[in-house]
Amino acid sequence: MVEKMFLGIHYTYRRAIPVTLIKEYCWCPAIPWIVYNYGFEPDYTPSMIEGFEYRAKRRLDEVADRLGLPEPRRYEVFVLSRKLGVYGYIDIVAGSKRLTVVEVKAFKTKRWKHFEKQLIVYAAIVNSELGPVNKAILVLGKKTISIEIMDRDIAIAKKLIDEVRRAIESPEPPRVNHVKNKCLYCRYRRLCPVYST
Ligand code: SF4
Repeated sequence: MVEKMFLGIHYTYRRAIPVTLIKEYCWCPAIPWIVYNYGFEPDYTPSMIEGFEYRAKRRLDEVADRLGLPEPRRYEVFVLSRKLGVYGYIDIVAGSKRLTVVEVKAFKTKRWKHFEKQLIVYAAIVNSELGPVNKAILVLGKKTISIEIMDRDIAIAKKLIDEVRRAIESPEPPRVNHVKNKCLYCRYRRLCPVYST
């Protein structure tokens, strides 16, 4: 139920941005601007509901076993970084001295770069608040993408967080290169100032 909490948690933690919104920004930069400036949160899509159900069935421990993650394993970890100004629920944080961060999606998809960015921001939060992260894993159904986390990834995450903050605080919506297929099925299209101009 994280997505529906964009705005509520934002006020609780003042200027902190939910990582799910950074993921949305990487999908289309106009989305966080719409959420913050219009206070609009659309209904869940069927695939999102399926994703929630997947989590509710506690499949995360099965994923952890399949990946052979080190102990201890913590599931659905809420982390707020006041320093970075972001927060989020991380599917799995595993290990003790060097940590592994895992983001689990129920299905394989061709477009996963925004999920990868989401994961790197999670790695930066954990690195800042819990301990050094050396690995991040994106699970897309049966497929896994493993990233060795380096300083440059943390720097990319920080830059991205700043970029999203600037975008949502701007009086004007960000410039967007329209991608027809994205706009056609976009949950924000009805209110999108970029799409309608
Ligand atoms: S309608 Fe298109 S431009 Fe507007 S938020 Fe959706 S994807 Fe982005």
